[in-house]
Amino acid sequence: MMNFLEEKILKDGIVRPGSILKVDNFLNHQIDIGVMRKIARELKQRFDGERVDKVVTIESSGIAIATLLGDLCDVPVVFAKKSETANSTDNKYVSKAYSFTHKRMNQVFISRPYLNKGERVLIVDDFMADGQAAHALIDIVHQAGAEVVGIGIAIEKGQQQGGRKLREEGYRLESIAIVESMDPETQTIRFRQTHDQSAYLK
Ligand code: 5GP
Repeated sequence: MMNFLEEKILKDGIVRPGSILKVDNFLNHQIDIGVMRKIARELKQRFDGERVDKVVTIESSGIAIATLLGDLCDVPVVFAKKSETANSTDNKYVSKAYSFTHKRMNQVFISRPYLNKGERVLIVDDFMADGQAAHALIDIVHQAGAEVVGIGIAIEKGQQQGGRKLREEGYRLESIAIVESMDPETQTIRFRQTHDQSAYLK
């Protein structure tokens, strides 16, 4: 049985060569509020019972999901910024991530006042591919002396290794749709079967 996000991906997703899934009409360009609300509710549900002090994401497409989730948790949302140059001398926590979609190394940073020691942080993003963005955010959270509650992702590309690595490292990673394989020739997309489907997914 497919969940709402898997159905939406099959209906509107476009598979590009190089393992890129384009979902511009509901997530990466136009934002479908109904779909985003369901993503946020589902992530809220999956991390229910965890104390969360802050939701942290990375610009730009993570912000919409993070904002709706921050609303449901009633906590502040912080988005890490990307730039070609940033250094930690000017009051920032800095890490770096290779961008899978833009094929370049980015500096990723959060200003020090927006992350505090002891805070419990839920990391969210639109996609998980090689785990570069998630690892940069984890690094920054740890630099601040804060704690990672878990990582919530809308679409994980299971054929790339980010998700596997993070789970092996012991992080709680929740992805609403996990793509197992996709073919740009035939536009076929297959999803990993998961067993933790909640009522919100229907
Ligand atoms: P990672 O850092 O895990 O390698 O890649 C995740 C980041 O790259 C996400 O923040 C997302 O913006 C972007 N990304 C990776 N793969 C895809 C993809 O197939 N489609 C889209 N739209 N974005 C992707």
